[in-house]
Amino acid sequence: MTDPLGIQSSLPPLYAGWLSEALPGAIPAETKATCENCAMCQQNANTGSQAMFFNPNTKCCTYLPELANFLVGRILAEPDASTVPGRDRLEEWIDRGIAVTPFGAVKPPLYDLLYTQATDFFGKSEAMLCPYYIKEGGLCGIWQHRNSICATWYCKHNRGAVGFTFWRTLQKMLGMAERYLAVWCILQLDLGATALKKLFPVENPNQAGAMRTPLNAKQLDGIKDEDNYRVLWGNWLGREKDYYRVCGQLVSGLSWEQVLDIGGIELRMMDRLTLEAYQNLVSEEIPPRLQSGTFQIIRSGSNRHLVETYSIYDPLSMPRQLMEVLDYFDGRPTEEAVQAIYDEKDLNLTAGLIRKLTDFQVLRPTDS
Ligand code: SF4
Ligand code: SF4
Repeated sequence: MTDPLGIQSSLPPLYAGWLSEALPGAIPAETKATCENCAMCQQNANTGSQAMFFNPNTKCCTYLPELANFLVGRILAEPDASTVPGRDRLEEWIDRGIAVTPFGAVKPPLYDLLYTQATDFFGKSEAMLCPYYIKEGGLCGIWQHRNSICATWYCKHNRGAVGFTFWRTLQKMLGMAERYLAVWCILQLDLGATALKKLFPVENPNQAGAMRTPLNAKQLDGIKDEDNYRVLWGNWLGREKDYYRVCGQLVSGLSWEQVLDIGGIELRMMDRLTLEAYQNLVSEEIPPRLQSGTFQIIRSGSNRHLVETYSIYDPLSMPRQLMEVLDYFDGRPTEEAVQAIYDEKDLNLTAGLIRKLTDFQVLRPTDS
C-alpha cells in the first residue's frame, strides 16, 4: 500500500495506505505525545500540568500486543532486519511454539493472567513490559508493523476528548479488520479439517460463560503442548513461518475496499463511524450553545488549577480566572456568554480557547 497523500506517517505503512483510501485527508499529528522523549516521564513532563508519571524504563509499553497472522508475516518478511529489532523475540516464540497459532501471535496464558489480575501497573511495571520493546533507546521493535492498539494509543491528544474518540474509533475499526483478515487468511490456506475444528470450536452450551480455565504446568512454564500444537497447525505444521509470510503477502495486496468486502457489514459500519469521528477531529466548529461540563480539580494553586477531564493522563492546567467564568456558559448562545464575560469580567475568550475547553469537555454542547 502506498500513502499517496503523504499522510498518516506515524501509522504502520499497511494501515497508512488503507486510511489514505478510507479518509478524505490527513490525520493531524498528536504532537503532545512526544514518544521519543516520553511526555509521561517525569524528566520530560511539564510537572505543573501533570498528575502522574510513567516509568521511563517502560513508558506506555506495559502491554503485550496480539499480532494477527498477516502482521507476523510482514515482520518476518521485512528485508531490513534493523527496522524490526523485535523480530528476534517473535522468531524465538515461533521456534518454541509458544503462543503462536494460525491466528497469529497471541498472549501467552501466564502474561494474560497477570494482565487481567494486576492493578495499577500500566506505565509502571517492568514485569509487564512488552517483549518487542527495545530498552536501548526505549523504542518499539516492530514499529512498522505494530497492531491497531499500539498504532492508535496516545497518552495525550491535541484535541482532547475529540482526539481520544477518533483514535478509539479507528482502533475499533482496525482491530475488527485484523480479526476478519486473520480468519480470511486461515480460509485461504489449507490447514485441514481437524485444525479448523480446533480453531473454530462449536461451543458446548454447558461451558458458555464458564470461568477462565486454570493454567496447567506447561502453560505456567511456557512449554509447548505438543499434541494441541500439532492439531492446531494441521497441514502447515513445521512450516509456520512460511504460513505467516504467505498471510502477510495475501493481506499486503488488498485495497481498503477489498478489506471492507472481507469484513462485511460490521466493518463497513465501523468505517462510517471512523469517518464521522475524523470529520469531528478536523472540524473547528464551536457549538452554538454551551454549558459547564463535568471535571475534577486534582491540584489547586494560587493562580491555576489542574483539572482532570476526559483522561487521567491528559489533565488541563487552567487559570483560576478562567474557572470563575465557566458559569456564564449556561446554555445561552455562546457569543452572548462570551460578550457577557468580556463586559462584566474584562476577559476576552478567543474562539481557540473556547474550542479547547469544549474539546476537553470543560464545556459541553447544551444538547449533548
Ligand atoms: S504515547 Fe506512550 S511513549 Fe508516547 S509520550 Fe505517551 S506515554 Fe510516552
Ligand atoms: S508493540 Fe511496540 S508500541 Fe506496542 S507495546 Fe510493544 S513496544 Fe510498545
